[in-house]
Amino acid sequence: MSPERKKELGREMQTETTARVDLWVLTVALYKMSLTSSEDIGRWDRHAASFASHELEGDRFVIGVTDQYAADYYASLYSEPLRVALIQAGAQPDIKVEFSVTEKAKEIEREKREKEEVIKRAQPEDIQHVKRTSFASTVPLNPNYTFDNFVKGPSNSFAYAIASAIAKEPGGNTNNPFFVWGGAGLGKTHLMQAIGHYVMQRDPSKSVCYITSETFLNEYLNAISNNDGDSFRKRYRNIDLLLLDDVQFIGGKRQFQEEFFNTYNNLMTYGKQVVMTCDVPPKRLNNIEERLITRFQQGIVIEIESPSYETRLAILKSKAKNCRHRIPEEIFTFIGENIKSSVRAMEGALNLIGKFMDANPGMEINSQIARVLLKEHIEEEVTIRRLSIDEIVKAVCSTYSVTYAEILSNTRTQPLATARQVAMFLARKLTGNSLPTVASEFKRNHTTVLHGSQVIQKRIDVEPELKKTIELITEQLGRKPSELFY
Ligand code: ADP
Ligand code: MG
Repeated sequence: MSPERKKELGREMQTETTARVDLWVLTVALYKMSLTSSEDIGRWDRHAASFASHELEGDRFVIGVTDQYAADYYASLYSEPLRVALIQAGAQPDIKVEFSVTEKAKEIEREKREKEEVIKRAQPEDIQHVKRTSFASTVPLNPNYTFDNFVKGPSNSFAYAIASAIAKEPGGNTNNPFFVWGGAGLGKTHLMQAIGHYVMQRDPSKSVCYITSETFLNEYLNAISNNDGDSFRKRYRNIDLLLLDDVQFIGGKRQFQEEFFNTYNNLMTYGKQVVMTCDVPPKRLNNIEERLITRFQQGIVIEIESPSYETRLAILKSKAKNCRHRIPEEIFTFIGENIKSSVRAMEGALNLIGKFMDANPGMEINSQIARVLLKEHIEEEVTIRRLSIDEIVKAVCSTYSVTYAEILSNTRTQPLATARQVAMFLARKLTGNSLPTVASEFKRNHTTVLHGSQVIQKRIDVEPELKKTIELITEQLGRKPSELFY
């Protein structure tokens, strides 16, 4: 989101409908809207949960935390973006954000620790022991990602059925490995962790490991640099259920793939279950050894698709159960109709509505207010609207007066070569498709596509005419030129 759009949004929210919205609520809402990856959002939520207080003291906005280390760390991450968001939310322009150790924060931390102690004491020693040893993950499971909280619909019912079969009988032959793929925010991680919860609950002695492939790779690199490859190997060969999230990130990491190949084979040999998620199906994985891809296809490969309108409504209603307010039917319909790209985006919209209702008790919420609050979400949806590569190629053909077949041909004369590269550039920028997909549509290998779009990227800087042409095509396609140059 551009600073101008954010500012505009902040102003609208302030003046039109939400004059009474709490400054912090609005600031957080604006800040969170600027986060695009689920990792960033998850990190913020985890961190923000430990902020004990927030207070406006003159020109200082003070956030209370429990210790100096946390204060310094959070300040380095959040002081600046929160300052910007505060100003957009209506704070004075010279506002400063500080993270400080406050008495209140310490008090809250003490209470939390005492509560944990009580719970711990209530558990017999042996259960504690079993729990400690059974869980091999570096990353804990999200307590909400259970089967009970997963809403089934035509887009995910097959994946759900397989996941629950695996949960009941991990390591069975038919569904091993289980490879789930699909777009961002469609429930892959949720479903995968649901298997983990179920298995651990049923048999706490089972060793369940949830890890993203990025973390997995980092652990491996650390182990190698500490000359401790052996204990890394042992650790990952002694688990019963490996949940490897976002496997696409191992692309290109040859040495790690070798190690993973061995770990993987070992787990399979001993009848352990492997579940993987990915943003593409195995055959479209980029820079991953063929033998790994073959292995990934040996069990069951299933796509989770975007949910239908009915499923979207059911998911919204299920999520709203955690909300303290009664959300009117009109709002569900509004979100269901306007936010379609991912469940994560729908959840974000619902959270914003919840925050608005928190901040404005007694105020009737309707779709008009929702439209203002969710303006940014809705705009993003329009941007996400999937343009097909086909549409792009056709638009380029008509601008350059060339044919579709010529674009796909190997002829390198001008202006055909430029037209082809422009089409590649736009396909990369505007469709959100991965490089291998774009490459296969153009019947080229991916280095050619990468090269082609890089050439255009460079030429745009020095050839205003070319830049104008490309912007025009982009507008014809119903998209904003600003999307090309971020
Ligand atoms: P992915 O891993 O595919 O990017 P996630 O599993 O992180 O997506 O899901 C994003 C958010 O949407 C999570 O909060 C998850 O609980 C929620 N979600 C996705 N699909 C469903 C569903 N079918 N039912 C309930 N919640 C869902
Ligand atoms: Mg995920």
